[in-house]
Amino acid sequence: MAYRGRFAPSPTGPLHAGSLVAALASWLDAQAHGGTWLVRIEDVDTPRCVPGADQFILQQLAACGLPPDEAPVWQSQRASLYQPALDSLTAQGQAYPCGCTRSDIERALAAAGRSKPRHGELVYPGTCRSGLHGKPARAVRCLTSTPEGHDIQVTWHDRRLGLQHQNLTQEVGDFVLKRADGLWSYQLAVVVDDAAQGITHVVRGEDLADNTPRQIHLQRLLGVATPAYLHTPLVLGANGEKLSKQNGAQALDLRDPSRALRDAARTLGLPDLAAPQPDWLAAMVAAWSAQRGADNTRSTHAT
Ligand code: GLU
Repeated sequence: MAYRGRFAPSPTGPLHAGSLVAALASWLDAQAHGGTWLVRIEDVDTPRCVPGADQFILQQLAACGLPPDEAPVWQSQRASLYQPALDSLTAQGQAYPCGCTRSDIERALAAAGRSKPRHGELVYPGTCRSGLHGKPARAVRCLTSTPEGHDIQVTWHDRRLGLQHQNLTQEVGDFVLKRADGLWSYQLAVVVDDAAQGITHVVRGEDLADNTPRQIHLQRLLGVATPAYLHTPLVLGANGEKLSKQNGAQALDLRDPSRALRDAARTLGLPDLAAPQPDWLAAMVAAWSAQRGADNTRSTHAT
């Protein structure tokens, strides 16, 4: 199948050193496979989007020599794709309305002695699986148990991290597909779009690896293909956490993108080729292919 990759930034601000790593890696991987590279603006979480950030990101990518092969798409214009997917999940009995507020969930978890949040998110205790109990519907959730009531276990292979496993039921719980404020969730939108755009390879930051089992579960329910996944190393901010605007990330300087590209290449473990030079990106593609080739050999031996 012809390789189709993508970079899917949320326009919550300009690209910075951390987001450029994912952009460069996904671009390099597409080039190394002779594939097509798309850019999808993930602007479903409208309260977090910054006006103009989408156009600025596209300019930054162009300045870095990374223009997409097809016209970019905006998730905010694709609700007509997300609704049928949600309808299909509901018709299968795999999605259900939930009337719980955060405090309802906290109370139910505390009563069950399970109040510890995971990455700041509460594992939903399943209260509305059996109906709304007279409450108005707020969000729509995806069921995470088999028809026989067993846990959903997802095992998957990451091209860099190797074999991964998650008990979706215990570690994540029934997750939101459509939010109480009516917005589409990242999980549903990303799965529908990766499928609709024929994405064969997802290359993105390691902070998103934990979402992959939810996405694989949705792909299975919706009967669409699961792409190959590769999660890239993160750039850390001064506080040791993933680099973000909150911990000091600077917007990439459009006047000198070569330095930022070189730093991103170093994060990816690629050799420090002198930049800028006309064939710098081509040399990076060759270095990426060599690195991935070595990794592929290693993972073959490991399995
Ligand atoms: N929009 C997500 C983000 O910027 C990335 C989604 C993805 O690559 O799957 O964090």
